[in-house]
Amino acid sequence: MDFQLSEEQQRWREAVRDFSDRELAPRAREVDEQARFNWEAVHKMGPLGLLGLNAPEEYGGAGVDAVSAAIAIEEIGRGCGSTGLAIAAHNGLACGPLALFGTHEQKEKWLRPLATGAGRADTQGRPLLGSLALTEPGAGSDLAGGVKTRAVAEGDSWIIDGAKMWTTNASIAEVIITLCRTSPDRLSLVIVPTDTPGLHIGAAEKKMGLKGSPTHAVTYDEVRVPKENLLGAEGKGLGQTLKVLDGGRISIGALSVGLAQAAYEAAIKYAKERHTFGLPIAQHQAIQWMIADAATELDAARLMVYRAAWLKENGRPYTKEAAMAKLFATETAERVCFNAIQIHGGYGYSAEYPVERIYRDQRLMTIGEGTSEIQRLVIARSLLGSK
Ligand SMILES: Cc1cc2nc3c(=O)[nH]c(=O)nc-3n(C[C@H](O)[C@H](O)[C@H](O)COP(=O)(O)OP(=O)(O)OC[C@H]3O[C@@H](n4cnc5c(N)ncnc54)[C@H](O)[C@@H]3O)c2cc1C
Repeated sequence: MDFQLSEEQQRWREAVRDFSDRELAPRAREVDEQARFNWEAVHKMGPLGLLGLNAPEEYGGAGVDAVSAAIAIEEIGRGCGSTGLAIAAHNGLACGPLALFGTHEQKEKWLRPLATGAGRADTQGRPLLGSLALTEPGAGSDLAGGVKTRAVAEGDSWIIDGAKMWTTNASIAEVIITLCRTSPDRLSLVIVPTDTPGLHIGAAEKKMGLKGSPTHAVTYDEVRVPKENLLGAEGKGLGQTLKVLDGGRISIGALSVGLAQAAYEAAIKYAKERHTFGLPIAQHQAIQWMIADAATELDAARLMVYRAAWLKENGRPYTKEAAMAKLFATETAERVCFNAIQIHGGYGYSAEYPVERIYRDQRLMTIGEGTSEIQRLVIARSLLGSK
């Protein structure tokens, strides 16, 4: 396959990078220190199509291809990890399932307002965002066996009871797509508007990094939603979730590449400025090798992410390639960001330099949307054909 980006994709990268350099990077430190969501920037994302990366144009989406969607997340992440995670979750985890499995009516009602970023009078024009709640206090990697949140049919409604954990965007979302058990051995995805009585969103979790991306526990206490809020057919929720996560893994891979790229660029800049033993440290071979390794691994990670996206775009199987891309890109980000701090010496450990924040932000990437261990499981299953 040919990985040459088209001129359109290159122009798209330049446009998103320019936006990220102007609107995200200058505020990334403040967003982290104040654990504040960057609404100002997200407000400006709608017209650029950045809130509709996974939605077709006919429903107000950007209509960009999957490689361009990955490029956008990469460039947003290069500017600000917190905003990157929030926007990746909105696009991939909320708009994604609505676009994939929604009926025309559901897309008109839920996807269009999420994808356009237009907002409403009662949100003072603030864009409407979305969430996906899969994980529970007792179930993360093992959703099939562990999900306890129940949706019970009653008349024209589903009544939902249970608890979710680590829901990105919950407090700033219009809807939370919720994975529920609809019979003892069947799961389903249900669209739950966040203003539904009985839905309680906990305080923002205090996290190591990504502090400007709000993450919440959510409880459902006899939450009643109309029957038509079921996404796709009843009992198909696990398969739908796995499909959504295949795409989400490309996104987390892209976000990791963006974070690592930012740390790498900061390391090169510092290595040229800092002198020891009469030389810029960039002229010591030990530092050069760290930079050469980072450039090589970043290149490989980026290509793997684009390959998985290209396969997705072309309707080819991509589960294994998305898992490989996520595994390699997230573990590359760990190494690149670790060495970026090493290159900065003591200053790398200080909040004065961005590499400290980026290191904390990237740490989630080997965990969220399937841990590295689960990626290896997915890859091995695909290679060995086992269950
Ligand atoms: C900041 C943040 C944002 C998040 N956002 C969302 C969100 O928006 N929506 C959502 O639904 N979830 C979200 N999550 C949850 C995230 O997806 C889970 O934390 C992740 O899937 C791991 O699940 P767990 O934490 O329950 O770990 P566990 O499943 O309990 O795993 C614990 C450890 O055991 C290992 N392990 C488990 N099973 C196996 C196995 N079979 N073989 C080998 N090792 C294994 C894991 O790799 C891990 O190392 C978020 C989490 C965080 C921290």
